[in-house]
Amino acid sequence: MKNLVVLGSTGSIGTQTLDVVRANPDLFHVSVLVANRSDELLEQQINEFQPEVAVLSDKEAAQHLKNRYSGKTKIYGGREAVIEAAVYPEADTVVTSLMGFAGLEPTMAALEAHKDIALANKETLVVAGELVMAKAKEMGCAILPVDSEHCALFQCLQGNDRKAVEKLILTASGGPFRGKKAHELTNVTKADVLAHPTWNMGQKITVDSASLVNKGLEVIEARWLYDVSYDQIQVVVHPQSIVHSMVQYVDGTVMAQLGCTDMRLPIQYALTYPERVESKFPRVDFAKLAHLTFQEPDMETFRGLKLAFEAGRTGGTLPCIMNGANEVAVEAFLKGQAGFLQIYELIEAAMEAGKVEYKPSLEQLLEADKWARQFTREKLAKL
Ligand code: MG
Repeated sequence: MKNLVVLGSTGSIGTQTLDVVRANPDLFHVSVLVANRSDELLEQQINEFQPEVAVLSDKEAAQHLKNRYSGKTKIYGGREAVIEAAVYPEADTVVTSLMGFAGLEPTMAALEAHKDIALANKETLVVAGELVMAKAKEMGCAILPVDSEHCALFQCLQGNDRKAVEKLILTASGGPFRGKKAHELTNVTKADVLAHPTWNMGQKITVDSASLVNKGLEVIEARWLYDVSYDQIQVVVHPQSIVHSMVQYVDGTVMAQLGCTDMRLPIQYALTYPERVESKFPRVDFAKLAHLTFQEPDMETFRGLKLAFEAGRTGGTLPCIMNGANEVAVEAFLKGQAGFLQIYELIEAAMEAGKVEYKPSLEQLLEADKWARQFTREKLAKL
């Protein structure tokens, strides 16, 4: 029986993690649930999973829940309570599905407390890959990827010599705007962006998928998870999203992992590894699959990918600056305060103006993130 902390339990990955727990009651116990401010959904989850502790990072929402809840679960509110939750003594594994930069501190705290991480929060590795991987190594903790591409790479690497890896091939669906040119993207709306063709995900990641920023963040995530150089990472567009990623070896062999587009599969694998357990998730029906296609990504139109390669190659605090600017820009886009293409402009402006610090400490990363957000908000005000 594995005791879990689920950070971000009311989000897309969080609810799907609880689906996996529900289907495998003999394997998992939920010790702690953490959400941001969705107190009603959290209350339902508390009633169903009976965790020892539940946390809402929004103190007001926590107070609302406390006022009406009378069960056994202890309820806390606030940012410090989220960090406390991540180091819950009885927990074995922390599922980190908080959104964005906010996932970094709880993840570092969990590693410090010897917890294994089921990592859904890719921004943690984007902004602090070097620091986080070193901490995991020092503490002897596993970081098991939940991101479908990285879970695929992880599976394709099993049983093979890491030194024989030639390159990692990340697949991208291309999102809802695949094949479009910049002039066709000027006036796209939130609704256009959120109509993702193959994956059903949270809003922020869906915008990131449309801009290919998500794939860029995943390139940086893969660099740190598998200790390869950026020259060893290739992105190919694969609109059917059946091949989740591939590893090419020095003899020319390519290993691929295939499956339906269902996040519960990588979540379950991260939680049961090294075991592979039965599931009722949909199966790929090869007889009905007409074709699987692959093509070069259009990095001129979808500059998010190019910018991430640039930020990753420069290193230091630049990926953190890129990420901070993107988080603010995406939020503005979702609120109708910025156009889709302005997301790129805002990221570029921050990357150009930001001062890069190399080998950053956690404090320097927090500082860089704060600077990038402030800078991007100021730019936004002038749009
Ligand atoms: Mg992914």
